[in-house]
Amino acid sequence: MRFVRYQAKNIPHSYGWIREEDIGQITGDIFADYRRVESYSPLNQATLLPPVTPGKIIGVGRNYREHAAEQGVEVPEIPLIFLKPPSSVIGPEGMIQIPPQSKEVVHEAELAVVMGRKARWIHSEDAFGAIFGFTLGNDVTARDLQRRDGQWSRAKGFDTFCCLGPWIETDLDAADAMVTCRVNGELRQMASTREMVFSIPQLVAYISSIMTLEPGDIILTGTPAGSGPLKPGDKVEVNVEGIGAMTNLVTAFES
Ligand code: MG
Repeated sequence: MRFVRYQAKNIPHSYGWIREEDIGQITGDIFADYRRVESYSPLNQATLLPPVTPGKIIGVGRNYREHAAEQGVEVPEIPLIFLKPPSSVIGPEGMIQIPPQSKEVVHEAELAVVMGRKARWIHSEDAFGAIFGFTLGNDVTARDLQRRDGQWSRAKGFDTFCCLGPWIETDLDAADAMVTCRVNGELRQMASTREMVFSIPQLVAYISSIMTLEPGDIILTGTPAGSGPLKPGDKVEVNVEGIGAMTNLVTAFES
């Protein structure tokens, strides 16, 4: 099933589910008790919002060997994690803003895990039971600031630097899905999630041994090789096989 958050005529904002060309409204909490109600809006007339409002976003660095190699670094022996603030999130119709502090803003297309329940010290065998579903992520990064800082909070924390959407797919073979990124139609990134250094169950087990994962929390599982520069006017399309595509436009900073 595909879950969205959306706005439509007479619906200020709501959860919903995709039924062919329509969105069916959902009331309640998708992570607890919810109900599908008899209210449908045409998908092409709705505004899609970020599919979740995460309490935290955990990024995983250097989780594809070829991406680490092109950055001139080794893959880590244990997962390398960082946090992005919830304020960095935009939805599938949001615009990525290039901040004035950076001369090198890049895209990172990723499969994003959406947690479904509270999870602490989860065994990797039980990880999928704690996951709600999957969505697309673009872990936008100021690469020049990342190299300069050592800590990545600034480079990865700007407003609009976490694109999520267009919906949450609950039924996906996450162990072997193609992740691609196109900029203005040109293919920049393409790899299967099979090539991850640490698998999704390993990541959930590792992260939950550090911090309590909550429903709606996001894990960005790392980016394949080919992450490259973005400039105002660019159109970035992230695609994950089995979920769909998300297109975000890039704009100059506006205060
Ligand atoms: Mg990343």
